[in-house]
Formats: sequence, C-alpha cells, structure tokens
Amino acid sequence: MKTTLRTDITVEDICRGFVYNEYEGKGLFGLSGKLVIQPEYQRNYIYADGKRDVAVIDSILKGYPLGLIYFTKVADDKFEVLDGQQRITSFGRFVTGKFAITDASGIPRYFSGLASDMQEKILKTSLTIYICEGTESEIKEWFKTINIAGIPLNEQELSNAIHSGPFVTRAKEEFSNSQNANIQKWSAYISGSVLRQDYLRTALLWVSRGNVDDYMSRHRYDDNIAELKAYFTSVIDWVSSVFVDVESEMRGLPWGELYEKYHKSSYDPQTVSRKLRELYADFYVKDKRGIYEYILGGCVDSKLLNIRMFDEPTKKSVYAKQTEAARKDGISNCPLCAVGHDGNKTRIWKLSEMDADHVTAWSCGGETDSRNCQMLCKTHNRAKGNR
Ligand SMILES: [Zn+2]
Repeated sequence: MKTTLRTDITVEDICRGFVYNEYEGKGLFGLSGKLVIQPEYQRNYIYADGKRDVAVIDSILKGYPLGLIYFTKVADDKFEVLDGQQRITSFGRFVTGKFAITDASGIPRYFSGLASDMQEKILKTSLTIYICEGTESEIKEWFKTINIAGIPLNEQELSNAIHSGPFVTRAKEEFSNSQNANIQKWSAYISGSVLRQDYLRTALLWVSRGNVDDYMSRHRYDDNIAELKAYFTSVIDWVSSVFVDVESEMRGLPWGELYEKYHKSSYDPQTVSRKLRELYADFYVKDKRGIYEYILGGCVDSKLLNIRMFDEPTKKSVYAKQTEAARKDGISNCPLCAVGHDGNKTRIWKLSEMDADHVTAWSCGGETDSRNCQMLCKTHNRAKGNR
C-alpha cells in the first residue's frame, strides 16, 4: 500500500459541493464531488449532539490541529474518507448552516452570522490528509488497525467495515436506521444504540448463534437479508407473546438463546404474567432479570433469582443455639450429620464449616428470617441444593 501526505487541501475545498443527508444522518459528498465522505462501511454521523460537532469548530477557531485524516484513492481523482468522516461532516454541516455555535457573549452564531475574519479562518484551515492506495483487502485490514481519532469503532462497526457489501447495506437499512418505525417496539427487548449498530449486532448474534463474523462473511454478497429478518422477527414475536408485560429488566436479555432453548414449550401468557407479578413483588428475589428464564424453565431453578440470603448476625445466633443444644445431646451440630451413620454423627463443625439453609425452601414459601434458618455442614447444604 502506498500513502501520500497532502497538506494543501482546506476546509473550503472539502466544503465545495458538500452534501449532507438529514434523513440517513450521513455526510455524503464533498471536494467538488470527488470525495465520498461516508462509504457504506463507515458508521453513521454521531457527532450531531451539540457538543462534539461544536468542539470541532472550536478547535478550528482556536487553531488546534484537527488530527490526521485518511482518504483512500478509489479512482483517478476520486476518494473515499477512511478516517475523519465525523470531523469532516461536522465542519461541512457548520459551513452549510446546519447548526450554530455559541460565541463569547453567549449568542448562538451560525456560520453566516460569524465575523468575516472568523469565516475566513475556518475556510482557510488546511487539513493533514494521508491518501492511501492499495487493494480493498489491504485497506480494510489497515482500517481495522487504525481507529485513530474520536470514538473508536466498536465491534460491530468493525465487522461492518470488514464485511462491507450489499448484505451490510441492507441490514443497516433495517436495523441501524432510527427512522424504522419498529425500533420503538424492539427497544423493549434490546439495549444499546441503533446508530452504533447495537440492534444490528443483536439480530446477527441471534441468527448466527453467536458467530457474527462467520455469518457475515458467508452472506457478504447476498442481495437480501430475508433469513436475518425472519429469525429476528420470530424471536421478538415469541417474547412478546409469552410475556405480555413489558418491564425494563427485559431489555438486553439473551432472547435469542432463550428462544432456542424454550420456544418449543408452550406457555399460558396469563399464568406467566401472574407468576411474573408475584416474583417482582417478592422481597427475597434479588435478580429480577433472572425471573424470565426462571419462568421459562418451569419455575425450578431458583439460583437464577439470586434469593436473598441470611445475614451474618442471624447465622451466628442460629449457630450458637444449635451448637449448644448439640453439645448437650452429644450429637453433631449439623442436624443431617446427627441422623447419619458415619463418623460425623457426633462432629461439632466450626461456623466457617457450615452454611445457612432455609428449613422451608424459598420456593415453597419459606422466609429468610431466623425462625426459618438452620445451619448445615457445607456438604449437606450443597446436597440439599434448593434454597
Ligand atoms: Zn452435615
């Protein structure tokens, strides 16, 4: 790969023919039509938050360097932005009047409202640009390793870059498009940001059973995303039909895995909802996110709920009482050892060798207070399992 350093291209040059697509949230073209600002493997523009975009303009006005920018040469006199698209889109949008900055006296100023020397300063700022020439795979490989300025690409953004092609383009139209009316519904079950590819990531994780890059590379040149979409829809439809309630703890659960494990079982949504309400109201259930798999699995595995345990003072006082009584009777202070037939029949365990156990299991309505607490040796406690 060959790189050439250019320091003669100015903000004004780039802004000539600058096109920003508000709908797609993308800076599209600049440099009199010779530059593609956001090739399909680039993430959407995420600086439009009134902070990062404003910071770019502040830097220029203060004469701070904007950092290195990388273009790839795709044809004679045709370039694509490899790194720097967020910064370029920020000054492009400012110069074309898309947002304002606040001046020293607190007044918002659009580009057209700036003093002419300030306008001039912005336009005449020259950029430090490396122009790279090489094969697609060389450039993609290199792109993977630069991650230079601003926010580093996250995992899915990198995968989109590496597997760029018709499949990624279509998948992004569906799952990375904040204009998609379904996002609202999906956001009940999926966490993260649409623009930073978290929804696409989730959809790919589900359909690929966790092998995202393998899936993307096999489907790279597909001109449709039918399977991805159908699988995603099946999972969402399944969750929303089993659980009619929508709770914030549902967001970001591994619904794809749960679907694989449980979608062949049948559930009565009303019974599920009643059980769910009951567990949400249960003081002893510490892990509300675990409620969903607990219910799907038939309310058996209470480990998923992380049931509130006995506190130290309770354990100590129960231990003392139990041990005193056991000494008097000449038996083990573990009630299960005491009725056994081995050498532990009369053994007095230390507090550190014992664990607290619910006499009546939590799942059978037992409470976590001293009247329902007994100390068992670790072996017997583990064997009893169900707390
Ligand atoms: Zn025991």
